[in-house]
Amino acid sequence: MDTSFIINELGEEREHYFNAVAPPIMQTSNFAFKDFETLRAAFEDEYAGEYLYTKSKNPTVDMLRLKLAALQGAEDSIVTNSGSSAIFCSILANVKAGDHIISVAKPYTWAARMFEVVLPRFGVTHTYIDGQKTENFIHACQSNTSLIYLESPNSWDFALQDLEAVGQLAKERNITTIIDNSYCTPMYQNPHAFGIDICVHSATKYISGHSDTVAGLITGSKSMMKKIFDSELLNSGTSLSPFNAWLLLRGLRTLEIRLERISASTQKVVSFLKNHAKISGIIFPFDENFPQYHLAKKQMSGACGLLTISLQDTDYETIEIFTLSLKHFLLAVSWGGHESLVMPKATGIKPEDFDKTNPEHQYIRLYIGLENADYLIADLAQALERV
Ligand SMILES: *Cc1c(COP(=O)(O)O)cnc(C)c1O
Repeated sequence: MDTSFIINELGEEREHYFNAVAPPIMQTSNFAFKDFETLRAAFEDEYAGEYLYTKSKNPTVDMLRLKLAALQGAEDSIVTNSGSSAIFCSILANVKAGDHIISVAKPYTWAARMFEVVLPRFGVTHTYIDGQKTENFIHACQSNTSLIYLESPNSWDFALQDLEAVGQLAKERNITTIIDNSYCTPMYQNPHAFGIDICVHSATKYISGHSDTVAGLITGSKSMMKKIFDSELLNSGTSLSPFNAWLLLRGLRTLEIRLERISASTQKVVSFLKNHAKISGIIFPFDENFPQYHLAKKQMSGACGLLTISLQDTDYETIEIFTLSLKHFLLAVSWGGHESLVMPKATGIKPEDFDKTNPEHQYIRLYIGLENADYLIADLAQALERV
């Protein structure tokens, strides 16, 4: 399906709402029925049945589901009220007591907390591996391994996994695969085409694009979506509200052009920083010196926005001076919005635990937003002059 068609036309049944160009926000909790039979059918199958209750389905939310499933090349999707709940529901639906999970090392914080804090209470164990080497997945497999959890690229060091190879080895062993695809969005990577079962996204990031909504996305086969929908989604009650779905539909209109703009600006920023005397290292998947550059080019059709740098001077104070000298990069979590951001790893480390010889402690992550690239480069240049 053509991206322009998906973004502008798919699911927009305007004759049902006065030919309005913008979709309505169906702000209702429940839906009325005319007879017992249709109501009973709706009770029996909330996933495929008529609209019953907004916790399960809502027309505004469904328009978003349809578009996002198509963009990610999946049979269906579920949208949730955060990326974290998308991760929570997808993992929980695919493990039972006694199972084992293989996860890439250092996954997104709340995936890690699930593996380390929540699931052990129910007898589910996990092994973290360096996912850059495919053989590590094979070595970590146990007879009770039911799930492989991927995040490619990781959102700090951008470590990748070979999705085709992992998809294949998981299929051979009947293991379900989940990938956090937030970095690439459905536009720049299609893990389903490589045999990965479930994609989860923080739709808070690029899909919303305006830093005004928290939302999550799950995509996959109809049977997998029904499984998650009928149990973990309805039980946790973490579906997306109609208004937030509408904000995401609005964000989606410009997803393609926002990513194009951010990609072009990010390339310019990378070129500027690469040759700068005050910079000791730069990590960006589409930089030719990136260790997994060829794999990145093979499985991703784009890379944008996020990059990590390190300064020549590795003192805590220097990182602080550089960060606070930036005038147009906000010091804030998250990414994917219109506004450029900076996030030093040091902000999550107590000053007494900071180790100036540990490369990870020196990471300063930049997110390039929709501002003009030269405007951002001038700001980076003046901040680097101060250190
Ligand atoms: C932000 C983020 C999430 C979580 O999404 P929320 O919408 O904040 O719950 C998951 N994965 C990655 C890689 C993220 O950056």
